[in-house]
Amino acid sequence: MRIRVLDIAYQTMADGPGFRTALYCAGCRHACKGCHNPQSWDFNAGSWMEVDELLDIIKADSMSNVSFSGGDPMYQAPAFTELARRIKEETGKTIWCWTGFTYEEVLANPEMAAMLPWLDVLVDGPFILEERDTDLLFRGSPNQRIIYLHEKPEEDIIPGTVPLIKLK
Ligand code: SF4
Repeated sequence: MRIRVLDIAYQTMADGPGFRTALYCAGCRHACKGCHNPQSWDFNAGSWMEVDELLDIIKADSMSNVSFSGGDPMYQAPAFTELARRIKEETGKTIWCWTGFTYEEVLANPEMAAMLPWLDVLVDGPFILEERDTDLLFRGSPNQRIIYLHEKPEEDIIPGTVPLIKLK
């Protein structure tokens, strides 16, 4: 399976806690006003990369966990689900995923919801420019939730004011 990739950041500390390999995929239809990355809306931007190729890149960095961002990975849910499944089965890495859909919208879409069992954290919802808060960690507006989908891993503990929503 292939993913349309816009860019890859290595050992970034901007996309979740600690060092992370961040995959920025191409394509988004949410059209949030004030989007930080409008060039990522184009589904034809970037280039195709095989899941195997991305997995090799992720595995090559033993220090870094993984982040999926964009664009919106949920528009390429089957391929990201395959990548996330293999990351969880073949490495001990955590996965954070950003989406402009709400958690409830993801749950209502079987193709998107299939990714959730393989993710550690979903940061959900559109960016709302009128509510922008630059003090928030890892999100732009307070409607966006940092949702721990499973047990919260010790290395991902975020100090301070970020509300963590633990669903089970
Ligand atoms: S979901 Fe993210 S990438 Fe898409 S328009 Fe909104 S802020 Fe931009």
